[in-house]
Amino acid sequence: MKVLVLGAGQLARMMALAGAPLNLTVSAYDVRSGNLVHPVTLEVLGSGLENGIADADVITAEFEHIAPDVLSVCQASGKFYPGEEAILTGGDRRKEKALLDKAGVNNARYQVIESKADYDAAVATIGLPLILKSALDGYDGKGQWRLKPDSDLEAIWQDINQFLQTSPQGSRQCVIAEEFVPFDREVSLIGARNAQGDLEIYPLTENIHTNGILSVSVAAGDDDQVQSQAEAMFKAVADALNYVGVLAIEFFDVGGKLMVNEIAPRVHNSGHWTQQGAEVCQFENHLRAVCGLPLGSAKRVRPTAMINIVGEVTVPIAVMAHAHVHWYDKEPRPGRKIGHINLCADSAGALGDALDTVSMLLADDEFPALKPAADSLR
Ligand code: ATP
Ligand code: MG
Repeated sequence: MKVLVLGAGQLARMMALAGAPLNLTVSAYDVRSGNLVHPVTLEVLGSGLENGIADADVITAEFEHIAPDVLSVCQASGKFYPGEEAILTGGDRRKEKALLDKAGVNNARYQVIESKADYDAAVATIGLPLILKSALDGYDGKGQWRLKPDSDLEAIWQDINQFLQTSPQGSRQCVIAEEFVPFDREVSLIGARNAQGDLEIYPLTENIHTNGILSVSVAAGDDDQVQSQAEAMFKAVADALNYVGVLAIEFFDVGGKLMVNEIAPRVHNSGHWTQQGAEVCQFENHLRAVCGLPLGSAKRVRPTAMINIVGEVTVPIAVMAHAHVHWYDKEPRPGRKIGHINLCADSAGALGDALDTVSMLLADDEFPALKPAADSLR
C-alpha cells in the first residue's frame, strides 16, 4: 500500500521507517514547497498535491497546522485519515475546547477572546493568573501570554490586539484565555483507534518541558487509577471524532485528578519512547490504523525514557553504548528538535540510574531535564 503524509518532517520520516517492514511505501507532501518527497532522503519524487493524492491509497498527516483548502481536497478523495475534522480540531484551540466540552472531559475553564470586552470579561470571571493562547498556529509554547496579578493588563492587551490585527490567518485567528492550572506534573496518553472503534492505548508518560519545549518523557508505569481516568477521556475524545489513527492527549495532573490540556491528532513527541519501549511503536500503529490493518499491542515491554535533542547541542558517540539515538538529519538551529535518545532499563529505579549515567556524558545546560527526570523515578 502507498501512504501519503501531509508534512515532510521527522514524524513522516519515522512513519516511513516503521512502515517499511510492512511493505507500506510512505511518501510525503511538503506543504511549503508543494513537492512530493521521500520522507527519509528528502529526494524530490514529484510535485503537486493532486498527483500525490492520485498515487496514494491512504492519506494522513504529521501535523495539524495545514491550510483548510489542502485538507478539504484530501477529504474529498475519501482516503484521508484521521480526516479533515480531526486535523482542523487539533489545529484550532477554539474547536478543540468545544470538542472537549462535547466529549464531557475535564478541561481548564476558558473564554474565547476576540475583543477588549472579551479580554476584560475573562479577567473578571476567570480571574488571575490567566494563560492566553493563540487559537491557530501555536506550538512549543509559542503564541502564549501569561497574566499575573501584577501584570500590566493594558500593555498585554495591546500586544494581543496587535497579534490579532496582523495575523496571517485573518478573522479565523482568536485567542483563548484559560484558567492557570496549578498542576503537579504533566502527563500524556498516546493510543490508536481503528475504523471499527477498537483501541490500543499505551501507558501514560510523564513529560518535563524546558522553555515550553518537551525535554524528557518517561514511561515507567503509573498509578492504575490515573491511567484509567486518562483512558476513559481518550475513548470519549476519540469516539467523539470517530477517530482513525494515533491520537495524543496531554493532561495536567492535579492531585491525582487529570485535566486535558490539549490534543494532537497525530503521532506525538511524547510517544517516541514506544520505538524501543513498546511491543509495537506509535508510528507502526498509526500506519496500521489508517491502512485498515490489525492494530498491534501497545503493551510496554520495559521502562523507557525519551530525551529530546534540541538545538545546537553535542551528543558524544559514547551515549550509544547506553541508549538508542535517533537523528532526523536536520540542520541544528536554536529550539529545533533534531533528534532524540531512547533509554531503556529493567526497572524504574534502574532507569533513574541509566539517566544519571547518560547525564554525565551530556551538558547540563543542553539537557536540563535529565536530573529532574531521574529524581521522578526514585
Ligand atoms: P505543544 O508544543 O505541546 O503543542 P503548545 O504551544 O501547543 O505546546 P500548550 O501545551 O497548550 O502549548 O502549553 C505549553 C505549556 O504551557 C504546557 O505544557 C504547560 O506547561 C503550560 N500551560 C499551558 N496551559 C496551561 C494552563 N492552563 N495552566 C498552567 N500551565 C499551562
Ligand atoms: Mg502542549
